[in-house]
Amino acid sequence: MTIRVTVWGENVHERENKIVAGVYPDGMHNCIAAALNTHDDIRATSVTLQDPEHGLTQARLAETDVLIWWGHAAHGDVEDAIVDRVCDAVWGGMGIIFLHSAHFAKPFKRLMGAPCNLTWREAGERERLWVTSRHHPIAAGLPDSFELEHEEMYGEPFGVPEPLETVFISWFQGGEVFRSGLTYKRGAGNVFYFRPGHETYPTYHDANVRRVIANGVRWAFNPEARIGDPNDAPNVPVEAAPEPITARGPRLHEDGEEGFR
Ligand code: ZN
Repeated sequence: MTIRVTVWGENVHERENKIVAGVYPDGMHNCIAAALNTHDDIRATSVTLQDPEHGLTQARLAETDVLIWWGHAAHGDVEDAIVDRVCDAVWGGMGIIFLHSAHFAKPFKRLMGAPCNLTWREAGERERLWVTSRHHPIAAGLPDSFELEHEEMYGEPFGVPEPLETVFISWFQGGEVFRSGLTYKRGAGNVFYFRPGHETYPTYHDANVRRVIANGVRWAFNPEARIGDPNDAPNVPVEAAPEPITARGPRLHEDGEEGFR
């Protein structure tokens, strides 16, 4: 079975900053997609913020098993209707991976229900990532730790809810630490946050980082059919109760009436 991945790129720094354009001449999104396409079980394509509906039409999401999101400078330009659509897809079972500065992306903040803030510093520090969950599928094939020679520092406290699992923690040269690989379940969807990927460094050319993202795709993939309406909240009539009951006491709602939202 082939896992269909859509890589969503904000595609702003690559077009406006010469350093980023030099590191990612085809855009970060296309670099990530190309790395994923070296795997026979994954077929990745990319869309960007600038595409109509940010590239995330209903049809596109319906044929996306795992969505990867990289954003930074233009979080506020993402239309709320598209954020609703992405969250509905996740709640219905689509996998999603948020990379690096996507910790402040609208869909990530919505799915976390938390500030998602952190401390940071752009000083080209060495980052050492440690596997904290051995034999976790996202860490498959990795050494106990690996290094990125130049990265932006992200430090704790990271304002996210306690995850299902912490797969990596990072140490930075300046002394800070950060939970850099976190998994969540939101509705029927698997969510993975992976920290590395500052735009001025060649992080998405790194073999270990590429392996983590491919592993993350396989982990987030849910082969079950997407739930049609994950927001459905049916009013179940008395006759449809699994055990026979008689209605009693006063009530506000009539049979079949919609609940309040
Ligand atoms: Zn950054």
